[in-house]
Amino acid sequence: MSPLEKTKEPPTLTSATYEDLVREMLVRLGEDPTREGLTATPERVRKAMEFLTKGYQEDPEVLLKGALFTVSYDEMVIVKDIEMFSLCEHHMLPFFGKVHVAYIPNGRVIGLSKIPRLIELFSRRLQIQERLTTQIAETIQKVIEPQGVGVVIEARHLCMMMRGVEKQHSAAVTSSMLGCFRNEEETRSEFLSLTPPRPTSVYVKNHRRVPRPSFAFFAKEGEDFDILIIGVATRVAHRSSLRSTRHRAYPLKSIQAVWPMTLDHRPTTKDTSCL
Ligand SMILES: [Zn+2]
Repeated sequence: MSPLEKTKEPPTLTSATYEDLVREMLVRLGEDPTREGLTATPERVRKAMEFLTKGYQEDPEVLLKGALFTVSYDEMVIVKDIEMFSLCEHHMLPFFGKVHVAYIPNGRVIGLSKIPRLIELFSRRLQIQERLTTQIAETIQKVIEPQGVGVVIEARHLCMMMRGVEKQHSAAVTSSMLGCFRNEEETRSEFLSLTPPRPTSVYVKNHRRVPRPSFAFFAKEGEDFDILIIGVATRVAHRSSLRSTRHRAYPLKSIQAVWPMTLDHRPTTKDTSCL
């Protein structure tokens, strides 16, 4: 078989309707697609999947450009607790949760209702949580050109929860910080302090998730805040007990998400000396 022929679908699949493919899947799962409860299922699956992936049909920049307003307002705009439902591209199973978006305008704002619509547009595609977070932040940065933008997503993944994989680590928090949200620790902290705290995990690049850290904060090393300390303990750690809890320090650039609840917890010199 030539390489060109290999890339072609077998004729039986090309000519099959979406409903045929779902019926075939039911057969392979050991089901009888002609039984009463399943006869209309292939059509329902097609309609459901078309709805859940309708974000491919929309252009994010067109959506935002239709609702830009010139203003002199330069305080932080925050839209939080926006519900999000998406499908993971690895298993095509749902992941869902809350999105928090903030930006500081630079002469222009976007109609507030457009932010949930932008989230909807990107989440109605096959996604991974990290890319969804970045796409929302980068589109806002590109179209509104604000001083900076921050996006935090907290989500639970059914592909992990239902399959029994990493059950207790199935909540993940991701963030994307651009412009002044990336450069100014004060701006980032203001945004993060306004998103509601819930027990969750911290995701560290190239490391496994750290489940339910009892504290996580930036530590001062030299002149810069460039280390994140994550502590794992059975109860909330107080400064005085930091020395006795298990903890690790990671380089800041490896941190993909920071649970905001404890960003205010600043270590003293004594605290950090045990690293
Ligand atoms: Zn998955």
